[in-house]
Amino acid sequence: MQEEGVIKFNLRFTRHTPVSLESFTDLNRWRGLLWQQALIGQDPARYGGYGFGNVSQRLPQSPEPDSRRAFLVSGSQTGELPELRDEHYAVVTACDPANNRIEARGPIRPSSESLTHGIVYDQSNDIRVVLHVHSPDIWSAAARLGLPVTAASVAYGTPAMALEVERLFRETDVRGQGIFSMGGHEDGIVAFGKTADEAGSCLTRTLSLCLDKN
Ligand SMILES: [Zn+2]
Repeated sequence: MQEEGVIKFNLRFTRHTPVSLESFTDLNRWRGLLWQQALIGQDPARYGGYGFGNVSQRLPQSPEPDSRRAFLVSGSQTGELPELRDEHYAVVTACDPANNRIEARGPIRPSSESLTHGIVYDQSNDIRVVLHVHSPDIWSAAARLGLPVTAASVAYGTPAMALEVERLFRETDVRGQGIFSMGGHEDGIVAFGKTADEAGSCLTRTLSLCLDKN
């Protein structure tokens, strides 16, 4: 089941100068905090040694027709780095989950889970930030905590995942909770919000809830 780090979508990638992180300091600060808690990282003992966890934020303004879906996302296999800089982020300029296609540009390839981020952005214009982490604590307590969970038969970043996330937004209060568990992706958790602070504190709060009860 573990194929963390493997890019499953068709990627049209163009080398490009990095976007300045000046407008994304909160996102990058949360990325560092999540790394410190081992919710993002790289560990020889976990997931076959692949990096795990990634963060993204919609570009504030974009003149392009695909602006609805343009977002900054951490680069592929950056999990081992405690802190990211400009050159560790790519811009996804188009995301087509139904056809498993992504277009991106930057100094680095986008995260292998970019399609999952794009699927979440597709659910609402209010979603500006998506954080994907790996938390055995939250994942194993998802049912007890009442978190929405995508079907165990659905792996990350696939067209089927798009349908599952749409189902959660239709059938559960995932919008209000701002977090869901990926049933078919070991330890996979997605938090989202209008800001990095909103998504990040939702994750932190959920983690403390499940640790309290252990
Ligand atoms: Zn993952």
